[in-house]
Amino acid sequence: MTQGFMRYKMKNALSVDVEDWYQGILQIGYNQWSQYEERLSKGLNKVLDLFAKYNARATFFVLGYIADKFPEAVERIARGGHEVASHGYYHRPIFEQTPQEFEEDVSRSKKIIESITNTKVKGYRAPFFSVRKDTLWALDILEELGFEYDSSIFPTKNFLYGIPDSAHTAYKAGKGKLVEFPLSVIGRGRFTIPVCGGFYMRVMPYKLIKHGIRHFNRSKGPAVIYMHPWELDKEKPKLPMPLKWRIIYDYNIKTMGSKIERLINDFSFTTIGEVLFGG
Ligand SMILES: [Zn+2]
Repeated sequence: MTQGFMRYKMKNALSVDVEDWYQGILQIGYNQWSQYEERLSKGLNKVLDLFAKYNARATFFVLGYIADKFPEAVERIARGGHEVASHGYYHRPIFEQTPQEFEEDVSRSKKIIESITNTKVKGYRAPFFSVRKDTLWALDILEELGFEYDSSIFPTKNFLYGIPDSAHTAYKAGKGKLVEFPLSVIGRGRFTIPVCGGFYMRVMPYKLIKHGIRHFNRSKGPAVIYMHPWELDKEKPKLPMPLKWRIIYDYNIKTMGSKIERLINDFSFTTIGEVLFGG
C-alpha cells in the first residue's frame, strides 16, 4: 500500500472507544469485570501503531475505569498527538441510570482523565450510543459539566439505540452551547445505512464503506468513524451467547485490521475536536 497515495483531502473524524473486550458487552455488569481476562493493551497497541504509521490523529473516548487502572495507556494516547475524551466511567447505558448517577459517572471519568493529561476534556461518547429520545436530558448535564461536544447519537433505529429522524451533521444541542456530532449514516428512514465503523464496518465489504464515506463527504461534510481496540484483537475470547449477540460482538473481527488500514490510507483523519473547532 502506498502511503498517502491519492488520499482524499477532506479531513474526517476518527474515534476509538477505549474499553476492554468484556466491558463493551451489555450482558456483563461492571461488578463482574474482575472475572475476565485483561487484554486492552493487545488491541490498543495495534491501534496506536497503525495510526502512527499513517499519521492519522484520532479522538480516544476512554473509560474512566481504564484511566484509573492504566494511566500510562492514557499518557501514551496523548503523546501520540491524539485527543483524549470521555466514554463515562463504568460503561453503563444511560437509560439504566438516573440523571444523578449519570452526572456522577461522567464527572468522575472527566476528572481522572484531566488529572492524567492536564488538558480539558471536551468530548463525550455514551456507552452503547445510549443518548436516545428518552435520555436527551443527558446532553444538558454534559453541558453543565463543561463538555463542548457529544458524539453519541445514531440517526438510525435498532433494538438498542438511535434517533431515526435526527440530523446527520453537527448541530447545537443541550441548552444551546453543546455541539452534537452524530455518527455518520447515509440514506433516510428505513434505508439508513451506517457507514461509520464498529459492527457495521466488520459486516460491510471495504468497497461499500469507502463509497459510503465518499458519498457522505460530498453531500454532507466530514464523517465520524468509530472503532474499538478489541476489534483489532483477533484472539479475544468468544463467550457463549445467543446468535444475535455473537454477531454483534465477534462477527468478522479478522477483517477489521485491514479495513481500518485501507481506510486511513485512503482518507485523511483527525480528531473530532479539530473537525468541529479547528483544534
Ligand atoms: Zn463502549
